[in-house]
Amino acid sequence: MTKVLLTGSSGYIGKHITLRLLTDGYEVRASVRNSAKADEVRAAMLAHLPAGFDLAKKLSFVELDLESDAGWDSAIHGVDVLIHSASPFPIAQPKDENELIRPAVEGTLRALKAAHGAGVKRVILTSSVAAIYGNDLPAGATEFDETMWSDPTHIVGRVAYTKSKTLAERAAWNYIETEAPELELTTVNPVLVAGAPLDLKFGASVSVVERILNGKDPVLPDISFNVVDVKDVAAMHVKAISTDAAKGQRFIASAGLRTFVDAAKTLAAAFPTRKITTRQAPSILIRFLALFDSEIRSVLPSLGHHVGVNNAKAHTVLGIDFIPVDQSLVETANFLIDNKIVKP
Ligand code: NAP
Repeated sequence: MTKVLLTGSSGYIGKHITLRLLTDGYEVRASVRNSAKADEVRAAMLAHLPAGFDLAKKLSFVELDLESDAGWDSAIHGVDVLIHSASPFPIAQPKDENELIRPAVEGTLRALKAAHGAGVKRVILTSSVAAIYGNDLPAGATEFDETMWSDPTHIVGRVAYTKSKTLAERAAWNYIETEAPELELTTVNPVLVAGAPLDLKFGASVSVVERILNGKDPVLPDISFNVVDVKDVAAMHVKAISTDAAKGQRFIASAGLRTFVDAAKTLAAAFPTRKITTRQAPSILIRFLALFDSEIRSVLPSLGHHVGVNNAKAHTVLGIDFIPVDQSLVETANFLIDNKIVKP
C-alpha cells in the first residue's frame, strides 16, 4: 500500500487531503505541530469516513515544525510519497514579512531535503496562484497560466503572503534543478479555496464568505477573486500521485472568477432572508478605509483588477471537472450558518 507523508494535516486543506488520501486507499503519516492537533485531525476524519473504517491502521502522526530540523528524517523514513502542504496562511499580512517567508521557504526546503535524503522521489507541493499572478500579464495574454511567475518586487507580488509562496515554490524548483534532479515534483497552485471545512477548526480561507454573510461592510470593494472548491484541491493532490504526466508540472486549481459583488449576489439569492450587501464601493473610499483597517489594506493591490486564470491543464492532465463556484460559495455559507459561526 502506498504510504504518504502529508505535512500540515491540521489545516483546512490538509484535512481534506487526508480524507481524500484515506478514502482512495492510501496510508497516511500526517504531520502536526503538536500532538493535540493529532486528536483534532483524527476526530475530523472519523466524522467523515464510513463507520467501521480502520483509522488506527491507516493514519499515524508525527510532529514537525517548518522552522525546526527536528524529526524530518525519521518522519520521511519508509514513505513512498511526500505531500508538503504546511505553510502559514494568514488573514492579514504581518508587519514583518519574514514571519511568513521563513517558514514557507525553509519548510519547503526541509521537506524536499528530507525526501531526497531518504530516496523518496515523488513530491507534491501545495503552492498557490500567488506564485503566478503577482506580476503584469505578458503582452497579448488575457489570463494567467502555469508558464507565468510572480515578481516579488511587483506591487501585487511583493505582498508578504504572495512573496512567501513565490519564493517557496521557486526554492523547490531550484533545489531540484541544482541538487536533486531525481525528485519528481508536482505543484498544485490553488486560487482562493472555498467549500465546507471538515470541522470547526479551519483557517482563514472561508473568511471572505463569512464577511459577506455577516454584512459587516456596508459596500463591497471593486475586486475579483478566483475560487476553487477545497474538495477539488484535495483531489488534485491525490490524483497527481498516480499521474505520470504530472511529474515536473505546475497545476492551477481554479473553477472561475467572481467579483465581490457577484459572490454577494449569489449568496443573497441563496439566502433571501439575510441582509447581504450587494452594492459596490467607490475605490477612493476603499483606499481611505485601508488607512485604518489592515484587512482592507491587504486587498488594495487587487482593486480594479479582474483577471482570470487558465484551469485547462488540471482538466486535461488530472481529469478534474471543477465544482462550480456558486456551489462552493453556497456550501461554505451553509456550513457557517449551520454551525452558528455567523448569526443564523
Ligand atoms: P491553514 O488552515 O491555516 O493550514 C495551514 C497548515 O500549515 C496548518 O496545518 C498549520 O499548522 C501548518 N503550519 C503553518 N505554519 C507551520 C509551522 N511553522 N510548522 C508546521 N506547520 C505549520 O491554511 P490552508 O488554507 O489549509 O492552507 C494550506 C496550504 O494551502 C498552504 O500552503 C497555503 O499557502 C496553501 N493555499 C491556500 C489557499 C487558500 O485559499 N486557503 C490558496 C492557495 C494556497 P497548525 O494547524 O499547527 O497551525
